[in-house]
Amino acid sequence: MQTSPADDLNALDDEAFRHVVRRWVAENYPPEIRNPPKRLHWRENKVWYLKLAEKGWLAPGWPREYGGMGLSAGKQLIMIEEFERFGCARTNDHGVVMVGPLLIRYGSEAQKRSFLPKILSGEHIWCQGYSEPNAGSDLAALRTEAVLDGDHWVINGQKTWTTLATDANWIFLLARTDKAAKKQEGISFFLVPMDAPGVTVRPIINLELHDEFCETFFDNVRVPKENLVGEVNKGWTMAKALLGFERIFLGSPRQSAYALIRLKRLAEHVGCADDPLFRDRYTRLRLDLADHRALYETHVAKLRRGEALGADVSMLKVHQSELFQRITDAMMEIAGEEGGLLEPIEGNRDLHPAGLFIQARPTSIYGGTNEIQRNILAKNVLDLPG
Ligand SMILES: Cc1cc2nc3c(=O)[nH]c(=O)nc-3n(C[C@H](O)[C@H](O)[C@H](O)COP(=O)(O)OP(=O)(O)OC[C@H]3O[C@@H](n4cnc5c(N)ncnc54)[C@H](O)[C@@H]3O)c2cc1C
Repeated sequence: MQTSPADDLNALDDEAFRHVVRRWVAENYPPEIRNPPKRLHWRENKVWYLKLAEKGWLAPGWPREYGGMGLSAGKQLIMIEEFERFGCARTNDHGVVMVGPLLIRYGSEAQKRSFLPKILSGEHIWCQGYSEPNAGSDLAALRTEAVLDGDHWVINGQKTWTTLATDANWIFLLARTDKAAKKQEGISFFLVPMDAPGVTVRPIINLELHDEFCETFFDNVRVPKENLVGEVNKGWTMAKALLGFERIFLGSPRQSAYALIRLKRLAEHVGCADDPLFRDRYTRLRLDLADHRALYETHVAKLRRGEALGADVSMLKVHQSELFQRITDAMMEIAGEEGGLLEPIEGNRDLHPAGLFIQARPTSIYGGTNEIQRNILAKNVLDLPG
């Protein structure tokens, strides 16, 4: 029997696997989008998505039978580390990372057959419709509703913060399907095409003048009954089941490591690299990053052993986002006038203190705010009263 490339990869030891990934990325990643200063749009990162798709490397965690690589958690993390090390852009990955795994676990056979291949081919690009005005941290307070009318669900409401909605042709969303039930129990999970009549997307321009996220409106949007995933009123449990991996992804040291290198380069550029006060601050941040890497490694080691992550993974996200913010604070303090530029410093394409500073702000908000992560730690790790 002929062995496929993915079987070969699974059989490799970690170091050999890392080497294979590193070499392929170096040979195939488009150099012009290495270390992009902001989140790229589909038109900019499509080429990388399609290269991964063609290689069969788009969905490392999906089982082989659905077109994934079926890699162990440890090997998936090695891939992420190698992509980050090389400065690969994040793709439009909501399909691969969020809705795909959800369909694999809870979707009907027909949904799997119809949707999964289109994620892998890049035909369907997804966005996530969870948050609403007044339903962010308290997501179960969401008010978008879906009412059954014959063979269709009719959806009305508004979502906000929909990342890269203008690039997406499908959205997965949570909507209330039973107003009388307890908050968490009357919510269902839907798959909605963005070109359905009644869907309107309005980009929100952020501080970097970038249209990364949007408001999305649903006005009598009709979707076939089959577009509900899992059981009616059980969407909450399904949507929450996927959050663990997101927390470890958001807790990775990559953003802080990237920023720390820029901090040193910026110090050299402005001429304060040998200043004792700067050296003291830089050294502290370096040690904080080393601490963070050690913390991250303890969680990664759990995944490698095949263990589930506990509530303490929230600590990673808090620590990473606050460290990233402290590093970018230091950048702004030494940058002088160049700290006010909306573009990178001339002649230094990847030195852009204001850009990194602005990017660091929402890291303590998205993926669940740090206050909420601290509540989780207080209640579930420290056993304090909720
Ligand atoms: C860049 C970015 C991209 C995003 N992308 C998406 C996306 O693609 N799809 C999507 O659905 N959502 C997305 N979000 C939304 C994100 O998940 C929410 O912003 C987040 O859950 C917080 O909700 P909120 O903004 O409504 O703030 P709120 O919940 O209103 O919170 C405001 C403040 O009050 C604090 N707070 C609230 N409740 C408590 C409590 N019980 N105890 C202590 N403090 C509390 C919060 O921590 C925060 O500091 C994105 C957000 C950002 C910033």
